[in-house]
Amino acid sequence: MNRWEFSEVVMATGNKGKMRELAVMLEPLGVKVLSPEDCGIQGLHVEETGETFEQNAVIKALAYCRASGIAAVADDSGLCVDALDGAPGVYSARFGGPGLSDGQRVELLLSRMKEVELENRGAHFTSAIALALPDGGGFVVTGECYGMIALEPSGEGGFGYDPVFFYAPEGCTFADMSEESKNRVSHRAVAMRLLVEQLERSREDNADE
Ligand code: IMP
Repeated sequence: MNRWEFSEVVMATGNKGKMRELAVMLEPLGVKVLSPEDCGIQGLHVEETGETFEQNAVIKALAYCRASGIAAVADDSGLCVDALDGAPGVYSARFGGPGLSDGQRVELLLSRMKEVELENRGAHFTSAIALALPDGGGFVVTGECYGMIALEPSGEGGFGYDPVFFYAPEGCTFADMSEESKNRVSHRAVAMRLLVEQLERSREDNADE
């Protein structure tokens, strides 16, 4: 039996948007995407102790795989700003402390960037997605999306740092773009495409198992 021919995977997230995105990508491969609740998992808290996006994604995928007994996918993502030496990076969700809102984190980021000239405002989003199999197999892929930190917030869509992430090919911020347009070019979209490609390759390489 080819270990990569599983028909169900649990996604380690409560975010329905992320689940939908993954479901659309994995459906053509005959893989159904389940929520933690679908697998009877409730209130599983996983400490993100890794120093990289990849480590955190693997930690979460392993925990959900262990808890569910089936294949698990987990992602970890964040914003890396060149002028801040890659910060907030893996601490993106906690930048400035746990009590802040998305809007307050955006304001904090802009205040740290006050003196930074336009040409030095480069940044990228990173998304690491890990797949863990019950037999111990798995892999992790990473997608990136490059842009600049805008001088002020713009747009109503998206979440997190989207209002200040200026995406040059569209001439606007991620928050100005439709969800559909963002989902075509985002770091997560790139990582999900790599996940599908890697899964297809693994299935082919192991077709005789
Ligand atoms: P998570 O890995 O989805 O939990 O994201 C971690 C943090 O990174 C979020 O709380 C956001 O602050 C930031 N982040 C990740 N992806 C995005 C995005 O697509 N847009 C804006 N912020 C993001």
